[in-house]
This record gives sequence, structure tokens and C-alpha cells, in this order.
Amino acid sequence: MAVAELAQVIVDVPTLQTNRPYTYQVPPKLEHQIQVGMRVIVPFGKGKRSVQGFVVGLDQPADFQGTLKQITALMDLVPVVNSEMMQLSHWLADKTYSFWISCLYTMLPNMLKAKSKRIVKLVQPLAPEDQAIFGQQNVLDYSLVQNQASIVSRLLTLKRAGKVQFEYQVQDRARVKTVAQIQPVLTVDEYKQLRSKTRANATAQRKMLDYLQSIVGQQVLISQAQKTTHLSSANFRQAEDKGWISMQQIEQYRQPFGAELTDPAAKDPLYLNLDQQRALASVKQSIDNRQSTVFLLQGVTGSGKTEVYLQAMAHALQQGKTALLMVPEISLTPQIAERVRARFSSQVAVLHSGLSAGERYDEWRRIERGEAQVVVGARSAVFAPLKNIGIIIMDEEHETSYKQDDAPRYHSREVAKWRAKYHHAPLLLGSATPSLESYSRALAGNYQLLQLPHRVNKRPLPPIKIVDMRPEVQRRGESNFSTALLTALQERLTKHEQSILMLNRRGFSSFIMCRDCGFVLKCPNCDISLTMHLDTHTMRCHYCGHEEPIPQRCPQCHGRHIRYYGTGTEKATKELQALLPTARILRMDVDTTRRKGMHEKLLQKFGSGQADILLGTQMIAKGLDFPNVTLVGVLNADTGLDLPDFRASERSFDLLSQVSGRAGRADKKGQVIVQTFNPDNYVIRLVQAHDYRKFFNTEMQIRQLASYPPYYYTIRLMGSHEDEQVAAKMMYDIRQELGKQLASDTMILGPTPRAIARLKKRYYYQIVIKYRQDPQLHSLLTKIMQEAQNKYQRGAELAIDPDPQYFL
Ligand code: ADP
Ligand code: ZN
Repeated sequence: MAVAELAQVIVDVPTLQTNRPYTYQVPPKLEHQIQVGMRVIVPFGKGKRSVQGFVVGLDQPADFQGTLKQITALMDLVPVVNSEMMQLSHWLADKTYSFWISCLYTMLPNMLKAKSKRIVKLVQPLAPEDQAIFGQQNVLDYSLVQNQASIVSRLLTLKRAGKVQFEYQVQDRARVKTVAQIQPVLTVDEYKQLRSKTRANATAQRKMLDYLQSIVGQQVLISQAQKTTHLSSANFRQAEDKGWISMQQIEQYRQPFGAELTDPAAKDPLYLNLDQQRALASVKQSIDNRQSTVFLLQGVTGSGKTEVYLQAMAHALQQGKTALLMVPEISLTPQIAERVRARFSSQVAVLHSGLSAGERYDEWRRIERGEAQVVVGARSAVFAPLKNIGIIIMDEEHETSYKQDDAPRYHSREVAKWRAKYHHAPLLLGSATPSLESYSRALAGNYQLLQLPHRVNKRPLPPIKIVDMRPEVQRRGESNFSTALLTALQERLTKHEQSILMLNRRGFSSFIMCRDCGFVLKCPNCDISLTMHLDTHTMRCHYCGHEEPIPQRCPQCHGRHIRYYGTGTEKATKELQALLPTARILRMDVDTTRRKGMHEKLLQKFGSGQADILLGTQMIAKGLDFPNVTLVGVLNADTGLDLPDFRASERSFDLLSQVSGRAGRADKKGQVIVQTFNPDNYVIRLVQAHDYRKFFNTEMQIRQLASYPPYYYTIRLMGSHEDEQVAAKMMYDIRQELGKQLASDTMILGPTPRAIARLKKRYYYQIVIKYRQDPQLHSLLTKIMQEAQNKYQRGAELAIDPDPQYFL
């Protein structure tokens, strides 16, 4: 039997999502090349449609009687999905109730997702007025004309007449960047001779020949050569034509790194304190013994967790293995990534959403080829194609950004556990405020708990002062800044120390409300309040991007008392600047960091002392390590406490502890001021006491009483449709089906309209399932999900979120 006559392919057909591979025939010319994990182009359905697919199996018997279609082409010379990733993608699809194809795409860089393009092809000669649609070509990109009704109808007529054909074309977008390189092909003497023959006024030629003499035996990038000589690329092309040099295109990686390293001291490992040594020893042992132990490293802010990470990674590398470090958000990566890079230099690759598609593809390839052995990145870095992993580390493991909100709704921690097991490597979870889930697992002995209870060099955690804003506002009117905070800020200015101020905007925005009738300006598509942006003078929807002018009068009662509610960072910055005119203030929020690289730039500016105060949203709370920061202020600790979400208290505790940890990290003493309207709230009191353990105990009691995680697991089902009735009916049907077959202590809540019921013109209804042990549940939900595609009205969509992080 010849090699691989049949191939099983997962196809990319958006309307027909299925996890079932289709069997194709392998044409003889491809049968020695085709491998599992390669991308292919295959015909699909009736008509002339081609789509991208992934080979997931070879030579399994077809369950299909009849003639099989043939694979059209291979898109790769080597597999882009290795065998680990193939297994992982399959597991992920099952775990997250999503489609295999979307899992594969999630794991790979975007550039490997081919673009499917609809084209119109000439079959027979056309009349001149019709040929005009095609210009000089005989193929037309349909997307260029699809909005022009007259052309579309003309094309359809031509199609019926058999004169043109509609087809799909698959276009690979994976592009390798190349640069030109030159190489002298003559000897020094030959160049000298040529030069002596040139005219005295041929300056460019003489310059060129002088230069070429100087680089005989070398290869030089043309950009470099141009810089040195100030000659143009045309000059070099002429030199090539004359046979003076040869020119080649060579592959070059796109470089995502910004400025060069600033801190050469970070290169060497630090001498660890006893707690750090103990933690590191346990992790090293697991690496050496190839045990996939899960460690939970709980260390207060500034206790030196990062240094433990770095040395654990170094140990894995010494064993000839690779290491993966995950951090929650891109906003955290600049400082940590820089520390990792200082330690491991060119071995490091970074992966996060801030990279361009090309940069991401190149970093991915460096990892895949084994050129980078250390990966730092955010959520999706958990899919980095590292081989032979020695350790996986997840910093700030409690962060919700590790959970993806769209399909596939995976949690990086679970994927990391899977991969750690696959590679027989330990997984190290680190946090100052572990998730209740992880901490209770550690207490139960499922994870191994490691602790760093003190700050490095036994510096104390900064004292936290709570300021009651109620009397403050009565005395001075509405303001973001209490007298105590202003005094403390003034002191820092005098001593040339720095301050960080956080304006918590979680679940909160600066919306507009009419003080006469209570009208709130909402998004016409999404049913949520619009946020005001002073820089563009518009009201904007953060969900769908809808934008409209800021109203001067209330659209409902036509009153003039329409005013902002809540305060944004922009407004707070203005107020502070008026109060402290000499202070140099940097503002950091989604608006000032939207442009690529702005985040790093702002942090660099602050780090180098070009500003006194950094005022920002919660994006400044984590990971920043600036020795000159001695004051941290929280402007509004309350927002977030009362959100309709059972994790609201946990999130507030985490956030307030994190941001407090930014103060007094080096030799100077730190101080924290927390402003609140609820000074007696237990969350705020326990943050003040730096008492994670007591918070854990209190919160666990509440969770137990209300049957929430970690006592129960939760799953959320969301049904949506443009018609509210359809969405509701679907969810009532599903509820009924569930009710018949679940375990007796499993609870079903809903269906209810979601808190944000309408989003992007669709209505949402949700069901929440709480369960402890329910062996039937997974297969039942899988079945419901599969059936939903055909069972409900057109346009109805069902999504299942195992372990949702938000319930809004
Ligand atoms: P964490 O990650 O727990 O917040 P870091 O690893 O950032 O803590 O450490 C806080 C600061 O202490 C950093 O500036 C770091 O360089 C320094 N540090 C960490 N470990 C040591 C050590 N063993 N000796 C001296 N300084 C240390
Ligand atoms: Zn909207």
C-alpha cells in the first residue's frame, strides 16, 4: 500500500461548525509529503468552494461510501501543529464546548489562518460593457464590488448565462520578512582598477568602489551599507548590474522588543534569602525528578517571587529544557519581560496581543524552531510551541485575564496543567492573593504550598491609612482628593519622591445623567451607558464602538442639567493639576495607551523620574517595581465592591492589595492612602490589616452559604438572538432538557436576561448551573451544544462557558 491514501481533515467552514473530520483522498503526488498537523486546501460542499483545513489523521477508514474528494494542495512543508498540540486542541475543544477548528486557530498565530476570498472568474468572452467590470483582468475580487447593487445583479445574470463563475480562493497570509544583503564579488585590486578608470566627477561610483574595497569578504545588509555610504538603493542596484556585487534576500525576524535593556545589573542572579531558597529547592527537585507537581507560591508583594521564577527557569535551562512564564496582561509585560530578557538575553521570545501579526508569527517560529527556549507572555502564550518544557510559571495566578471570554473559553491555568503533565514538568502558580480556588486546593494538599511571608530584606509592608470620604465631601464638596491625600502628595513633591494614584474604574464609567429626569445616555445597540471622552468630544460605547456627540440638553426632558457622573482619569488629572500646579502628572488609561508602545513609554518616563505622579486605572496596580515610589493612593476603593457578581469582594481585595504593594519596595518607607465611602467594609479592613488568611476564611464562609465556587462548580449557558422571544424560548427549552437529567444536588438558575441584556443588537438570556459532582453533565451539555446548531431558529446562538469568571 502506498503511503497515506486517505487523510482526515478538520475544515474551516464558519457556517458548518463541527468537530467531525472529513475524509479526503490524497493525490499521488502528495502522498509522500502529507503529514498530520499540516494545513491543506480542500474542496468543500457543492459548488466550487475551497477552504483551509488541518490534517488530523491519516489512513483511517472512511465512514463514507462513495467517491471521496481530493485534497487540492498542501500549504505547509512541515506540520504547523505538532503532536502535543494536536492532542491539546482536541482536549480543549471537548473541555470548552467549542469547535476543534477554533481551538487550532486559537493556538496558532493569526497569520496561519488563511484568508478565504470570493472571486469571479471569466468563462466566456464578454460584451465590452461587461468586460469593463473586469478591466484588463479575467478574475475579479468580489469583495470590491459586493456593495454595488447594479454590478452584483449584472454578475448574477452573467453567471446564469454561464459566462462567469463564482469561486472561493484560499490565500495563505503567512509572510516571511526578508531583507536585501550585498556581497562584493571582486577582489580589492579589481575594485582599485575600476576606480582608476572612473571619471573624476563620477562621485557616486567612486564612493561605491571605495566602499566595496573596504568590505571585501563580508556580507552587509543593504540598509547598513546605505547608512555608511549615503548612497541610494538605486546605486547598489546599478552596482549589481555592473557585476560589482551580488545581492540576496535573506529572512529576517521582525523584532518586537523596544528600546535596548536599561538595567545591566539585572543580568546576574541575586543571592536568595532563606524563604526563597526553600521555595526554589522544592521546585528544582520537581524539575529534576520530572514530576508535574503544582506549586502555589504565595508571597506578599515585593517578597521576591520574580527572582524565584528566574532562578527556577535558569535551572530548567541548565537541564537542557525550556521554560514558560505567563503574566496576566500586556501592561505587566514590559517590566517583567525586561527582567527575563536581562537574565536570558536572546533565548527569550515574547508573545502577547500587543505584537503585530508579523512579529507574533516570527516569535512563534523562533520558539517552534527551538531558537528561543524561554517564553514570556500573556494568556495565549500558554500555547507557545515549546518542546521539552522543564517548568511552567504563572504569575498573579488569580488574575481573571487568564480566562478567555470568547470561544474557546479556556483558562490558561487549566491548559498549563495539561501541558505540565504532558511534559512531566512542575507548574508554579504565584500570587500575593491567590484565587480562593487555588488556595483551598493548596490547603487540601492538591497543590503544594510554598510561602514567602516577608518582603525582601524584611522591609515592612506599607501602612495603610483609610480616609472616610463622607465628611470630606460634606466639608469641601465633591472632589477626588481628600486633604490627607493632598498633604501626602505635597510631601512627596518636596522630598522628590514619586506617587502612584489609582482610580478604580472596574464596572464603572463616566457616563452622562440628567439631574432633572434621571435620563442616562445609552448605546442604541448595547443597552449600556456611553462613556464620555473629552479628547474626541464624543460619547462612546466600549462594547461596540458606537460614537455620538456629547449632548448639551437632555434628549428626554430637554433640561440643561445634564452632567457627567462618576469621574474619569482625565477629569481627576485636571483636578489634581489645579490643586498641585507644580506637579508633573502622567495619566495612564485605555486612552493614553491605545497606541502601540505608549504603555512602555509612559512607564519609562515615570521610571526615569520625568514625572512625580502616575495617575491611572487599575492597569497600574500590578507588577510595577519603582524604587522611588513611596506613596500609593486609591481614589475610590468602593467601586467594584457592590457589583452583582459573587467574586466582587475577592476582586476588590486582590486589587487593593496589589496596588498597595507598589509602595515602599526599595529602601525608602512606603505609605498607602485608601479613600472610601464604606470605611467599615470587611474587605477594606482586611486589606488594611494585610490579612489574606482572614479574608480567605471570611469569604469562604460566604461562598459555602451561597453554594458558590470553590464549593460548587459553575457553568454558564448563554443564548442569543436578534429577537428577544427567540432567545428566551431557546433557553427555556434547554432548561427543560437539563432539568430531566441532572444530579439531585445540581442547581439550575434562570433563564434570566443578562445584566447587559442587549449587546451588539442581540438579546441574551443565560442559565447558570451550579454542581458538585454530576457525571452526566458534560456529555449532556456537549449534546445540547451540538444540537443547538440545527434545532433552533436561524440566527440563534448558544455559548457554553465552563467556569465563568464574570456573570454580568
Ligand atoms: P515580587 O515578585 O514578589 O513582587 P520581586 O521579585 O519583584 O517581588 O522583588 C522585589 C524587589 O526585591 C525587586 O527589586 C528585586 O530585585 C528585589 N529582590 C528580590 N529578591 C532579592 C534578594 N534575594 N536579594 C535582594 N533583593 C532581592
Ligand atoms: Zn454599543
